[in-house]
Amino acid sequence: MCGIVGYIGPKDAYPILIKGLHRLEYRGYDSAGVSLINQSGSLVVYKAKGKVAALEAAAEEKDISGTIGIAHTRWATHGEPNTTNAHPHYSQSHSLSLVHNGIIENYKTLRTELEKNGMTFQSETDTEVLVQLIEYLQTTHHCDLITAVHLALKNVIGAYAIAILDKRNPNQLIAARKGSPLVIGVGKGNETAAPGEAEFFLGSDATPIIEYTNQVIYLQDEEIALLNRNGKQLITNLESVQQTPQLVTLQMNLDELEKGGYAHFMLKEIFEQPNAIRNCLRGRIDRDTLSIKLKGVDESKDRLLTARRIIICACGTSWHAALIGKYFIEEAAKIPVDVEYASEFRYRNPVIDKDDVVIAISQSGETADTLAAIQLAQSHGCFVYGICNVVGSSIARATDSGTFIHVGPEIGVASTKAFTGQLVSLIMFGLALAKEKKTLSETLYHEIINDLTLIPEKMQQTLDNSKGIEQFAKIFTYCKNCIYLGRGYNYPVALEGALKLKEISYIHAEGYPAAEMKHGPIALVDEEMPVVVIAPRRGMYEKIVSNIQEIKSRNGRILSIVTEGDTQVKNMSDFCIEVPDTRDSFAPLLSVIPLQLLSYHIAVAKGRNVDQPRNLAKSVTVE
Ligand code: GLU
Repeated sequence: MCGIVGYIGPKDAYPILIKGLHRLEYRGYDSAGVSLINQSGSLVVYKAKGKVAALEAAAEEKDISGTIGIAHTRWATHGEPNTTNAHPHYSQSHSLSLVHNGIIENYKTLRTELEKNGMTFQSETDTEVLVQLIEYLQTTHHCDLITAVHLALKNVIGAYAIAILDKRNPNQLIAARKGSPLVIGVGKGNETAAPGEAEFFLGSDATPIIEYTNQVIYLQDEEIALLNRNGKQLITNLESVQQTPQLVTLQMNLDELEKGGYAHFMLKEIFEQPNAIRNCLRGRIDRDTLSIKLKGVDESKDRLLTARRIIICACGTSWHAALIGKYFIEEAAKIPVDVEYASEFRYRNPVIDKDDVVIAISQSGETADTLAAIQLAQSHGCFVYGICNVVGSSIARATDSGTFIHVGPEIGVASTKAFTGQLVSLIMFGLALAKEKKTLSETLYHEIINDLTLIPEKMQQTLDNSKGIEQFAKIFTYCKNCIYLGRGYNYPVALEGALKLKEISYIHAEGYPAAEMKHGPIALVDEEMPVVVIAPRRGMYEKIVSNIQEIKSRNGRILSIVTEGDTQVKNMSDFCIEVPDTRDSFAPLLSVIPLQLLSYHIAVAKGRNVDQPRNLAKSVTVE
C-alpha cells in the first residue's frame, strides 16, 4: 500500500522527496504530505488531499528549505482521505513527525489509554496513535527517541513501515518496519558534502532511490534503523540487539521496479494475493481464541440478526464473489441470500422489505449502478452493508456499516486480488453472523477459522505450483471459444475464469455449472474446443468426473484444476494444475488463481495490453 520517501544528507531534501513521491504514484494513493526540518530549525508539515501535484501547490510559497525530510502518499485504511488524515502526523508537542504505511491493529486501545493521559488527537488515523505513543513514552520514561521507538513498537500490534523526524535532532532520521516494506539507500553525498558527511534515502521500494544510488539495505521485519548525518547507521531489532545489515547492489531499471519486477500490474497483483489476504484478515481473526472480530458486524448486530433475508448487489467480478458469498452465508448462517446485478436490481421494481439487509460489493466503491442500488434499498428502509477496497469512496460513505477488504490498491483493470479479498470478507461476515445466530457448532466454527488462517500460505503454494501455465497457455492462443465448468462453490469460479479470459485476451468464453453443459453448450465441444474444468476433490467430485468423461467422449480438450495428489481427473486431462487441499467452501480462493494466471499468459502470448484492455475501465462510474 502507498508510499514512503525519506532523505538526510547534504542536498535539499524537498525536491528529492517530491520526485520520490511521483515515482511511487503507481502504487495508488489518495493524499500526500511532506515534513522537513527547515533551515531555521522548525519542523514543518505540508499535506494535501489528492495528487502529489496538489501537495506541491500547497507547499508553494512555503518554506521548503532543509536537508532532512520525510514524505508520504497515503492509501487510507482508517479515516477518510482528507488533509487532516494525510501523513505526516505531528506528535502533541510538534517535536516529532511521522509517516506510516500499514495498519496498527490495536490503535483503539492505545488511543483510549493515551487520551486518558491527556493526549489529544487531530485525525481519525491509526497512525497518529503511534507518534503520540512514542512521544508519551519518551516523556514518561525520560529516554532518548530511539529507546521510545523501541518501547512503542513493542506495544504495537499490526503492520508498519515508519519514518520519524525529531525537531530537536536534525542530524538523525529513524525508520522501522514490520510487515510493510522499507528500503534504505546509502548515497554518496555530493561535492557540497563535508568530509565524512553521508546521505541516506528511504523508500517503500527502490524507485525513489535508484537514480541517486544503487547501494541499498532492505530493512527486515522488526528492525529499527537510526540513520545519522555523520555516516553512522545503526540497525537494531525490537530487543535492541544490533543487527548486521546486508548492503545490496541493485541491478534493475526504474520501469521494472515500479511493477516490483513483474511485467504487468495484473501479474504483480495476482502474486500479491497471499499478502493481500493476510492484510484482509489482519485484526479480524483472533488467533488465540480462533474467533472473528468484524467491527462492521459488531456495530450493526441488532439490524443484521433480525434480517429476513440478505440481498447482495454487485457487478462484474464482485458479482461472482457475491455468488460464492451466498453459498457460504446460507450454509453457515442459515439465512436466505439473493444475489442481484446492481444494474438490474435498481430498475426492475424488486420486492424489497425493510427487514432485508443489502450487501453492496465494489472494489473501487464508486460503481454507479451499485451506488444507485444502495439508494433504492435505503429508500425502502433497508440496512446496507458495504464491502469495498477504497476507504472514503462513495459506497463506503453511503452504506450504514461495512468491511474494507484492505488488499491495497488494485491498478490492473482485470480484478484479481480484490476478488479474493471480497471472498474472504464475505466468509468473515458469514462466520460472524453464524456465531451470533449459533448456527454452527463451536467446534466447526473454530475449525473453519483455523482453515481460513491457512489460506495465505496455500495461496503461495498455488502460485508456486502454477509455474507451468505459461508454457501451455501459448497453446490456447489459437482458440476462439472456451468453456469453463465448475460445480457448487466452484461454479462462480468458472464464471470468473471465463470473464478474466474475455476481459484481457478477447477470446470468447462462457462459464457454466458443469451439469448444465448437457443442456446446450456440449454441442460446441469438438477437438478445437478447450474446456477448463475446476474439479477439486471435495464437493461434487464424482459428478464432475462424469462430466469430464462426457467431454472426452466428444474429443474435447480438458484443462483441469485438481487437488494435490489427484490422479483420476489428472489422467483424463490434457493439462492439469494442482492446488492444495482445503475445505470445499474455500476452494475458490485457491482455484481462481491458476485461472487468473491462465488468462494473463494467454493475453500476453497474444500481445494484448493486459493492464489496460480495450473498452474497459477500472472504476465504472457511469451506468
Ligand atoms: N493506516 C494508515 C492510515 O490510514 C496508513 C495507510 C497507508 O498505508 O497509507 O492512515
